[in-house]
Amino acid sequence: MLFDIDGTLVRRAGPHHRQALEDAARAITGLQASTARIPTQGMLDGQIITLMLEEAGATQGQIRRVMPAVMAKAQDLYVQRVPDLKSKVCPGARSLLYKLARRQVRTGLVTGNLSRIGWKKIERAGLRPYLHYGAFAEFADERRKLVAHAIGRARREGWITSRSMIALVGDHENDILAAQANGIPIVSVATGVSPAADLAKLKPDFLIDDLRSFPWQELSLE
Ligand SMILES: [Mg+2]
Repeated sequence: MLFDIDGTLVRRAGPHHRQALEDAARAITGLQASTARIPTQGMLDGQIITLMLEEAGATQGQIRRVMPAVMAKAQDLYVQRVPDLKSKVCPGARSLLYKLARRQVRTGLVTGNLSRIGWKKIERAGLRPYLHYGAFAEFADERRKLVAHAIGRARREGWITSRSMIALVGDHENDILAAQANGIPIVSVATGVSPAADLAKLKPDFLIDDLRSFPWQELSLE
């Protein structure tokens, strides 16, 4: 079972993530980069950094050159600053992950967060013991490729077989599109910024208010 982080497992986690991306972009380039006008939800950190630097006047060549340094710096800043996030865990997330672990269902992250940011967020939320691996922002430039990456790794490692149930759980329209592009079921959860009515337009396989209504039976996990 694959999980997005923001709006799906953890929500309203504060400005630290956004701030780390901005401060890193400014420190490395000297440009007045800002996320204020960027709709960051559902985007990959690399896409956010790119848009921010484009807006601040950087060329594509410059952006490509500084990207590794900005990504590294943003992760350094975030892990130093992130507060405790246990109170920010989405309703039903902890108990769902616990039950999946008891049933020995392999779980992974598919997130637009950079890897050290994603893992630190999950650790500060107290969910680290329940998640086995992940596909993160620096692995690809699009979310559908992150899903493919996560599925490919699970296959190669022998964690899943051709008969295993693979599904993605996410709060954003982009999660639905990424699951559909990979031909796997999507469980859309309305705990992020996207209203349920907007998610419904993309016809997710399952649409639930929060993870307490997880479709165990329908996914043949019970
Ligand atoms: Mg999300």
